[in-house]
Amino acid sequence: MERGQKEPVQVVCPRCRHTEIIYLPVPDLPRCPECDVQMLIEELLDEGKSY
Ligand SMILES: [Zn+2]
Repeated sequence: MERGQKEPVQVVCPRCRHTEIIYLPVPDLPRCPECDVQMLIEELLDEGKSY
């Protein structure tokens, strides 16, 4: 029985574009191992852009 289903999202470093997959919810976004800056959430599912 599964509970607390986690949602995978991609995060990207704004400086070096390094990406990682994390699983929401998380208390804090991870920091880039290269730059030590906080990474940003990048949309994984990019469907439905019909504009
Ligand atoms: Zn970086």
